[in-house]
Amino acid sequence: CGIVGVLGEHEAAPLLVESLKRLEYRGYDSAGIATVDKGRLGRRRAVGKLVNLSDRLVHEPLTGKAGIGHTRWATHGAPNENNAHPHSTRQVAVVHNGIIENYRELREELAAKGIGYETDTDTETVALLTQAYLDEGQSPREAALSTVSRLTGAYALCFLFEGEEDLLIAARQGSPLAIGYGSGEMFVGSDAIALAPLTDQITYLEEGDFAFVTRTQVEILDAARRPANREIKTVEIETGQID
Ligand code: GLU
Repeated sequence: CGIVGVLGEHEAAPLLVESLKRLEYRGYDSAGIATVDKGRLGRRRAVGKLVNLSDRLVHEPLTGKAGIGHTRWATHGAPNENNAHPHSTRQVAVVHNGIIENYRELREELAAKGIGYETDTDTETVALLTQAYLDEGQSPREAALSTVSRLTGAYALCFLFEGEEDLLIAARQGSPLAIGYGSGEMFVGSDAIALAPLTDQITYLEEGDFAFVTRTQVEILDAARRPANREIKTVEIETGQID
């Protein structure tokens, strides 16, 4: 339902939670974040209100300056912690808005390689497929591109990788997604409201776009995987009213 990604100068977890709070207005049944710190992925998720996630983070903090977050509105699988996003494997964590229509076919293909699923969601197949491509020796960038080329349906996706503290990969097809520009920081959000606490400099991705985001650079490929230039807009959002 709501997506945020942070490549920050400071700890990512508080920024992710703050941004997810702005997305509460959209409705959600669970929430979660993942970060990468000292190369390793960590994840916390909780059912119900965001306060449940922030409480969990008090007792089980998640460090790291790069991270992704999600508020879920379940379409496939009950609203429980196991089905909450981010979905992750050893080397990749993914947040997703929308529906992967061909997740059953993808599950069967993965099963034939001996890869099983552990959640009831369509989204988990995205993480499993990306991991399978990484296992074949593809780079994070190649693996994300290979995975997205296999998906049908509607998605806004944001990927975070083990060992990559300066990389977010974003893809958009049928669900909105935007990149936010900071100074020495970069962000991803499902809308300008998610990005409002972080920046007012925003690029909206277009249908089929794919973005490689680091703290200093955003590289966008269009649906035909040609380099694309997208306008950076200054978006004024009245943040005070949401608190
Ligand atoms: N289809 C995914 C799920 O059920 C994503 C739902 C959403 O957009 O929040 O987990």
